Amino acid sequence: MFIENNKSLKKLNTFGIEAKARFFANINKAEDLLDLMQTSQYQDSKRFILGGGSNILFSSDFDGLIISSNIKGINLKAIDSEKALVEVGSGEIWDDFVRLSIKNKYYGFENLALIPGKVGAAPVQNIGAYACEQKDYFSHLSGIKLSTGEKLELDFDECQFAYRDSIFKHELKDDYFVSSVVYNLDKKWTPNLKYKELDIELKKFGFDFINQDAEYVYNTVCRVRKTKLPDYNEIGNAGSFFKNPIVSNQLKDSLLTLYPDLPNFRVDAENSKIPAAWLIQKAGWKGKSYGNCGVFEKHALILVNYGNAKGSEIKNLAAEIIASVESQFGINLEPEVIFIGE
Ligand SMILES: Cc1cc2nc3c(=O)[nH]c(=O)nc-3n(C[C@H](O)[C@H](O)[C@H](O)COP(=O)(O)OP(=O)(O)OC[C@H]3O[C@@H](n4cnc5c(N)ncnc54)[C@H](O)[C@@H]3O)c2cc1C
Repeated sequence: MFIENNKSLKKLNTFGIEAKARFFANINKAEDLLDLMQTSQYQDSKRFILGGGSNILFSSDFDGLIISSNIKGINLKAIDSEKALVEVGSGEIWDDFVRLSIKNKYYGFENLALIPGKVGAAPVQNIGAYACEQKDYFSHLSGIKLSTGEKLELDFDECQFAYRDSIFKHELKDDYFVSSVVYNLDKKWTPNLKYKELDIELKKFGFDFINQDAEYVYNTVCRVRKTKLPDYNEIGNAGSFFKNPIVSNQLKDSLLTLYPDLPNFRVDAENSKIPAAWLIQKAGWKGKSYGNCGVFEKHALILVNYGNAKGSEIKNLAAEIIASVESQFGINLEPEVIFIGE
């Protein structure tokens, strides 16, 4: 088992932050992890599993072992006239999997086009966009428990999916390596037009269900995303930095008397969701720079690295934003991005 020392992580996180891992190991097949478990570097160090690094902020060097999945393979396990059961290695790039599915006429994930990162992180994060979440087509996954070496398969209910959340952020946090994920995709295409903005965008250029297909939706999602989000190869970022907060209807109603334009969406009888981007923009942060980092000028939810930012600078900026939103609206923003380091 080859373990690298003092590995630079700059090219392995989309923020482009320079940080070093004391030890670093690539896993090409599930058995590699069992070999790695026999080493002192594994047994004596704290550990972190890294995917494509697109939802991570390294706030300092990592004095431990980074385990990275490079497990490849996209295999059809079963098919009938309705469904295709596809197993995907956790080291596959999510968007490659989405494109290959559409090419093979297995549908469902068109709306999740171009989300950065690897397949292994998709259930951890329960990634979502344009009224679709990976849980919508999830069947089960396989992996290994880091603390015991036990091979464990988890089904839909066991994963406890919620908004950008799963069991892998709680009970199994940093203790479960996803080696492959199985999705149950549709054979018959039905467009998911529940997200109003996407519906409008599709119809702008004369979308009709007879002549256009899932690829058309895929391409439209890519086009919309490219106009809204910065390319992380040019400006380092990790997508939406904060989750959209869910607040009591009582707080929402009192805020509406002060801010009649407050956007809000019903979650249930007691709670509403407020867009974090609106709160951050209203607090005056959109387009503001803060040393080597700042808030993207086209989207207040995205923190950017102008080039040489340290992770700690971005962490401090996030803390300032949280404090200012808290003091103006009484709402505590929670980061979606995961902080690694001190
Ligand atoms: C420009 C941009 C746009 C984005 N847009 C969206 C969006 O629309 N919707 C959305 O949901 N997200 C979005 N994101 C966030 C990000 O793409 C997702 O969270 C993605 O799933 C992260 O994948 P990753 O492989 O980079 O994981 P990482 O960032 O490396 O890791 C994320 C988490 O997953 C865990 N993990 C990774 N691989 C494994 C594994 N094999 N086994 C166990 N745990 C693992 C890590 O330990 C960590 O906790 C965006 C990010 C960027 C940069």
